[in-house]
Amino acid sequence: MVNETCLTKYQKPLKECTDREIYFALLELVKEQAEEKESNQGKKKVYYISAEFLIGKLLSNNMINLGIFQSVKEELEAAGKSIYDIEEIEPEPSLGNGGLGRLAACFLDSIASLGLNGDGIGLNYHLGLFKQVFKDHLQKETANPWIEKESWLTKTDVTYPVTFGNCKVVSRMYDIDVAGYHNRTNKLHLFDVESVDESIVQGDGINFDKNNIEKNLTLFLYPDDSDEAGRQLRIYQQYFMVSNAARLILAQCKERGSNLHDLPDYAAIQINDTHPTMVIPELIRILTEEEQFSMDEAIKVVSATCAYTNHTILAEALETWPMSYLEKVVPDLVPIIRELDKRIRAKVQDESTYIIDAAGNVHMAHIDIHYGYSVNGVAYLHTEILKDTELHNFYTLYPEKFNNKTNGITFRRWLLHCNEELAAYITELIGDGYKTDAEELEKLAQYANDPKVLERLREIKLHKKQEFKKFLLETQNIEIDENSIFDIQVKRLHEYKRQQMNALYVIYKYLKIKNGEKPATPITVIFGAKAAPAYVIAKDIIHLILCLQELINHDPEVSPYLKVVMVENYNVAKAAKIIPACDISEQISLASKEASGTGNMKFMLNGAVTLGTMDGANVEIAQLVGRENIYTFGESSEQVISHYAKSDYRAADYYIEDKEIKELVDFIISSEIMRIGDVTTLLRLHTELIYKDWFMTLLDLKDYIKVKEQALTDYEDRESWTKKSLMNIAKAGFFSSDRTIAEYNRDIWKLGEV
Ligand SMILES: *Cc1c(COP(=O)(O)O)cnc(C)c1O
Repeated sequence: MVNETCLTKYQKPLKECTDREIYFALLELVKEQAEEKESNQGKKKVYYISAEFLIGKLLSNNMINLGIFQSVKEELEAAGKSIYDIEEIEPEPSLGNGGLGRLAACFLDSIASLGLNGDGIGLNYHLGLFKQVFKDHLQKETANPWIEKESWLTKTDVTYPVTFGNCKVVSRMYDIDVAGYHNRTNKLHLFDVESVDESIVQGDGINFDKNNIEKNLTLFLYPDDSDEAGRQLRIYQQYFMVSNAARLILAQCKERGSNLHDLPDYAAIQINDTHPTMVIPELIRILTEEEQFSMDEAIKVVSATCAYTNHTILAEALETWPMSYLEKVVPDLVPIIRELDKRIRAKVQDESTYIIDAAGNVHMAHIDIHYGYSVNGVAYLHTEILKDTELHNFYTLYPEKFNNKTNGITFRRWLLHCNEELAAYITELIGDGYKTDAEELEKLAQYANDPKVLERLREIKLHKKQEFKKFLLETQNIEIDENSIFDIQVKRLHEYKRQQMNALYVIYKYLKIKNGEKPATPITVIFGAKAAPAYVIAKDIIHLILCLQELINHDPEVSPYLKVVMVENYNVAKAAKIIPACDISEQISLASKEASGTGNMKFMLNGAVTLGTMDGANVEIAQLVGRENIYTFGESSEQVISHYAKSDYRAADYYIEDKEIKELVDFIISSEIMRIGDVTTLLRLHTELIYKDWFMTLLDLKDYIKVKEQALTDYEDRESWTKKSLMNIAKAGFFSSDRTIAEYNRDIWKLGEV
C-alpha cells in the first residue's frame, strides 16, 4: 500500500525513500482514505467552536482510526523502516495551550467515532503557541512554525469578508479531516487570512507588531495580553473566528434545508469557554440585518441554538472586555450587546448578572448564560461549585440550564496509540470490546490478585520507563534510572496547579538525603510545563525547578537517590511518551480551582496511581477506584472557599510558626541555589510565597509531604502497588470521551438518529 504511493509519488520503491519522503507519502495516503469515508448527512449538526484545538500529531492516530496502522507498520518494517521514526518527522500543530484545547481535540475524535454529525471550528494559527526552550535555567519563548507545504490542511474555496472597526480582511477556510475510529470522517474547519505575514516576527522570539491586523491576525495563539494592543488583538481574533463560524453555519443549514427560523432543528453550537461568545450577538446581527428577523425572533432562535461550556472559576479567566475596546474593534456588535444587556436589566434586579457592568466592562460569560440554552461545568464538583457559589445568581434565574458533563479523553490516543504494549496485553486478557465500549475495562478487575498478570503489568511499565529514559537522554542529555519511582507532574504552569508545592517537596527530600535519610527506592521527580510569557511568578517557578535540577542531579551524594527533570516544551507528543512511564501522577491543585483536569485521566488509564487534592475529576477518580487506590491530601474545596470568603489565609503565619516550612521556603534563597540561579528572580519567588501565596501552597504542604511519603513507602510492596495500578486501569472506562460526548448529545445537542 505505502510502496505504491511511493512509486507514484517519487518513482522509487518504499525501501529507497527517506523517512521524510515516507512521511509525505503516508500523509497523502491517509488523507485519501479519510476522504473516502462518508460523512454523516443528518439534518441536525453540532458545531464545536473553540479558540483552541490541541490536536497533536495526527499520522498514527488517523491510521489507527482508519484501521491501517498495523498493516502500514508491518509494511514499513519489511522495508527496513520504522513507523516510530516517521512519527518523529511530523511537526506538532500547537493550536492549543493545554487541557481546554486538548479536550476539544478529544471531543472531535469521539464525535466522529460515535458517527455523529459534527464539525469543529477554530483558527489556523501559523505559529501556534510558542515553543519553550530553556536557557540559563529560564524559559525562553521562540516561534513554532508547523505548517509545511504538504500538511493535514486542505485549502477550501470558502472565503468570507470580515469587517472590523478600522479594517477589513478576507478569510480563507482550511479543513483538517477528523477520522473517527472505524467510522465516519468529520471536519475541523480552521479559518485564516491570506495576508498573514510570518516575517513580521522579530528575531528568534515571539515579538511582532500587534497593531498590524492584516499581517498578524492568525500568527499566534493568545498573543501576549500584558498590553492593550495584545488584548485588542485577542478581540480581533475572537471576532474573526465567530464571524466566519456564523457565516459557515448559516450557509450549511440553508443547504440542508433550513429557513433559519427553524435553526435550532439544524444546528447546535457548543461554545467552548467564553472565547467564541461573540457568535451569539454576531448571529443576531446577521439575522436582523440581512435576514429580516425581528430582534425578538432573532434572539429566540439564537438562544435555542447556542450552548456554553464553562471551564473555570478562576476570576482572572472569566473574560471581560472594556466596552471601549469593543467599540473600536467590533462596532457593529456594540448595539446588539447593548440591546441584550438592556433586556436583562428590564427583567432582572440582580446587578451582578448584567452583561455590561457599572465600569463599562462586558462580561462574556453573562452573554452565554442569559442567551444560551445550556450551561455546563466539566466535572461533578466543578458544576456544583458553579451552582452553589460562583454562578449562584445565575443558577437561581435558570436552574434548568445548568448541567454537568464530566470531561473525558479519547482512549484511541491515550491508550491504543501511546501505549501499544499495554493495549495489546489488555486485549489479550479481556478481548478488544473495550476499544469501543470503554466500560469493559472493568473486566480487568478480576485479575487484581493474579500474580502473573501483575508481573506482566510491571514489565510493561518498566519498558515504558526505559523508553522514556532513552528519549530524555537523546533530547535533553539527562540520564535517569528506570528502576526509580517516576513521580510526574506535567501540565500548564499555574500557581493553582501548585508545581511550587512539589518543588518544596523536592527540597524536603534533598535535605533529608543530605542528612543521611535515604529512600528505599530512588525517586525521579519529573516536571513538564509551559508558563504564559507574561506570567512572572509562573516563570519564576520554572526557574526554581531548573535550579533544583542543576543542584541535585550534580550532587553525587544525592543524585543516586533523587533526580529532578524538567522536560522541555511539554506538548502532546511528549505527553504520549511521559504518561505511560508514570508511577505516581501528581494532581495537586488547590481544591476548588481545577475545574476537571484531563491529565489525571490519561495517567490513570496508563496505570499510574494518583496523588492529589479532592478537586476536579480527582473526586470522581477517588469514588471509582476507592480510597485504597488513590492518595489524597489537603483541605477540601469548602474549606478553601471559606478561606477566600473570610480572607483568613496568611502564608506568613505558616512560615513563621512552622520551622520545617520555614526551612524549605528559605532554601529557595540559600547560597546553594543562589549560586546557580538569578538572585532577583529567586528573591521575588521567596517573597511571593511568604507574603502573597494567593493559591495557598503552604496551607497543604505538610499534609502533602506526609501523604507523598506514605505513597513512596507503599510502593515498596510491589505486589500491592501493581494491584492499585491495575485497579486504576480497570476503573478508567468512565473517563472515555465517548461517554462524555454521548452525554452531550443526549442532554444538549439531541442530534437524533445517525
Ligand atoms: C492532557 C494535556 C493537558 C491537560 O493536563 P491537565 O493536567 O489536565 O492540566 C495539557 N497539555 C497537554 C499537552 C496535554 O496532553
